[in-house]
Amino acid sequence: MPWCRSIPKVELHAHLNGSIRSSTLLELASRFSKMGTINFHEVQAIILKGDRSLTECFKLFELIHLLTTDHQVITQITKEVVEDFASENVIYLELRTTPKWNASVGMTKKSYVEAVFAGLKAVETVQVISNSLDVKQNGLEMERSKRIIHVRLLLSIDRRENTEAAIETVQLALDMQKFGVVGIDLSGNPRVGDWKTFLPALKLAREKGLPITLHCGEVPNQSEIQNMLSFQPERIGHACCLEESEWAQLLQSSIPVEVCLTSNVRTETVPFLPDHHFASLYNSRHPLIVCTDDPGIFGTDISQEYALAAVCFGLTKENLQFLARNALKHIFANDDVKEELENIFDLSVNITD
Ligand code: IMP
Repeated sequence: MPWCRSIPKVELHAHLNGSIRSSTLLELASRFSKMGTINFHEVQAIILKGDRSLTECFKLFELIHLLTTDHQVITQITKEVVEDFASENVIYLELRTTPKWNASVGMTKKSYVEAVFAGLKAVETVQVISNSLDVKQNGLEMERSKRIIHVRLLLSIDRRENTEAAIETVQLALDMQKFGVVGIDLSGNPRVGDWKTFLPALKLAREKGLPITLHCGEVPNQSEIQNMLSFQPERIGHACCLEESEWAQLLQSSIPVEVCLTSNVRTETVPFLPDHHFASLYNSRHPLIVCTDDPGIFGTDISQEYALAAVCFGLTKENLQFLARNALKHIFANDDVKEELENIFDLSVNITD
């Protein structure tokens, strides 16, 4: 379906280290194996394995994090990930990543995020706008070149972190708002950690006006799901394991859901695609956004996710264009950006019609 690629799209749920190209991971693995740190063939088999359970995914993340420890690599993968999304005609990308520290290479959470921003600056194939200063500086050039992508960052709190570390991430996000950090995400292995641990950090973000998205209901955990929905985050991701009462609570709340079709089926949080709650959300006219989650890990891309939605749930090009444009209502960037993107969107839709 070539139109899935050509229509403008909005990506709101993509993890940086889950979006790395396999070719880059293999290149990094080869570098580490030459230094004698890892066995290339073992790592290659893990990287190229097709289906993965949720637990295997988190093991793979540990391996990926071993390969992406220095600033230069973080900058390189960010550049590539943004170029890949732009090549799928994504016009607005909210990329999320967990700020990491690594004393052995002089990395702090702040310098990690700076390396990510350096990656945005290094993008060559399109013009990246990540904050209002970019808009002012690039105004003239933007008129000449139509190919632009807006990229904003969400900083993720990892469920393995303690309250102090989670608060540090929120404080960093607040400090870096001017560069293009627009919100906070709670993610990580859903079988690890406790809601109460993260609540003080999430409350701080809320108090300071920083929007929040939560990974919610990836595994059955009724009390956590209820707590998350009652907290009323600006968006949630996944929402796979909701029971009837929570489902009713979600529908009543109108909290937009970031839907990740391939990811949910691959990790078996949803058994088969036709059973996916996409259909119920769509039929209830509940706000939803089609997203990739970890395109590198699951061998997908955003155009493929749109194609799956079309084929599996009988949606037309017009239905998906509507969904894509509607996603703009749920971005964390400000209203000026929304308006600008709506214009770009409407112009491109006329062009591709
Ligand atoms: P990073 O934050 O850029 O390092 O991206 C990888 C991280 O995102 C993983 O270590 C997890 O913490 C998180 N992540 C990626 N995919 C998922 C998911 O499906 N559920 C929960 N967390 C995830």
